[in-house]
Amino acid sequence: MTRSFEAVVVGGGPAGLTAAIALAGAQVPTALIAGRPRGADNRTTLLLKGSVTALETLAIWQRCRAQAAPLRVMRIIDDTGRLLRAPEVRFEAAEIDLEAFGYNIENLHLVAAMAERAREIAALELITQDAVDIAISSDVVAINLDDGGSVVAKLVIAADGRRSRCRAAAGIETEDWAYPQTALTFTLRHSREHHDISTEFHRASGPFTLVPLPGLRSSLVFVTDPADAARLEALPDGELAAEIERRAHSILGKIELEPERGVFALRVERARSLGARRVVLVGEAAHVIPPIGAQGLNLGLRDAAAIGELVAQAHRTGHDPGADELISRYLEMRRADVVSRTLAVDLLNRSLLSDFLPLQGARGLGLALLQHVGPLRRAAMREGVAPAAAQPRLMRGQAL
Ligand SMILES: Cc1cc2nc3c(=O)[nH]c(=O)nc-3n(C[C@H](O)[C@H](O)[C@H](O)COP(=O)(O)OP(=O)(O)OC[C@H]3O[C@@H](n4cnc5c(N)ncnc54)[C@H](O)[C@@H]3O)c2cc1C
Repeated sequence: MTRSFEAVVVGGGPAGLTAAIALAGAQVPTALIAGRPRGADNRTTLLLKGSVTALETLAIWQRCRAQAAPLRVMRIIDDTGRLLRAPEVRFEAAEIDLEAFGYNIENLHLVAAMAERAREIAALELITQDAVDIAISSDVVAINLDDGGSVVAKLVIAADGRRSRCRAAAGIETEDWAYPQTALTFTLRHSREHHDISTEFHRASGPFTLVPLPGLRSSLVFVTDPADAARLEALPDGELAAEIERRAHSILGKIELEPERGVFALRVERARSLGARRVVLVGEAAHVIPPIGAQGLNLGLRDAAAIGELVAQAHRTGHDPGADELISRYLEMRRADVVSRTLAVDLLNRSLLSDFLPLQGARGLGLALLQHVGPLRRAAMREGVAPAAAQPRLMRGQAL
């Protein structure tokens, strides 16, 4: 049987769930093809202020905020041991009149809260199948599911992650580059309080970032070279915990590891266009960036909010949500944000990896300026938390 919808979201990760809730919450008849359950995700996400506001507006945040820890202070410490080292930089949310820069939450709690909210919305049909075939014609997209069923819609929102089938079906290519780095992710228990402070040690092989979770727990994203990552991965828990404690300079006291671990090769994958032929891309289907500066999903949530806003408006005014004009407006809304964030993260990462003395000097100077020049530091903090150029309605607390 073929079911027909105004819009279909493919992919039940956090970006897809947000897009589906935004659309269906605005009464747009929507299906979410969430995919079959895949392995556990032990990552955490530091949700910046705009993302938290959007999740509040969509009635998601109320369900998971107890599992999130505020981030009130961010420290960057140069641990490169190089000749030209940067001073320690400390950013305090109170300096820009915020209670916190954002909230760190385990993805599994965030996705559970989103799934609970999705189940409540009458205009949203949840389909726990994989999309296996996507056929695009001039006025509709037909999607075959792996149970033999099918769905048609005027617009497909591709939230199906890094190896997006929908992106391939729309003929959108990606530009990719890899770094000689691997990110290891852990959830830690520790004996000392984190005091709502995240600490990012900048090491020559990549950042080592501790971000608070509720209680005496923190998440760690440990970026290092692939050989070091392989050696660390092979260590028994006790030895690995001792090594992490050493690299954290014991600031959190004694460390124990929780069972789940993640391993991610560091790369950038950017779609050459964010939409074409009745398909728009959101989240990692559109952009994969290294986990530096907590930007990835925050970008993905802004994608979801932007397309939600455009489709809700088209629905109210009786326009085709998959029309070329709507897709062009989506590209306009999202291009600058995606390009600027990808470049900023790339530059920061390269400046760490580079042995080129002038680049190290420039990085040190940049961080020194941030530490000592108040207006510059405050402007950087405001832009990091809420980019001036990209604040869809949901990020401003306005319902669709
Ligand atoms: C180590 C690490 C730390 C990070 N930390 C942060 C952070 O602090 N802040 C931040 O903002 N971002 C962070 N990120 C980025 C963030 O985790 C990702 O941007 C985010 O998880 C991507 O969400 P998504 O919904 O786009 O994709 P995914 O979570 O990959 O979801 C894609 C979904 O699509 C489904 N799917 C795939 N194919 C199909 C199909 N054919 N049919 C149906 N469904 C399908 C999959 O099952 C999956 O559920 C981090 C990333 C890493 C690697």
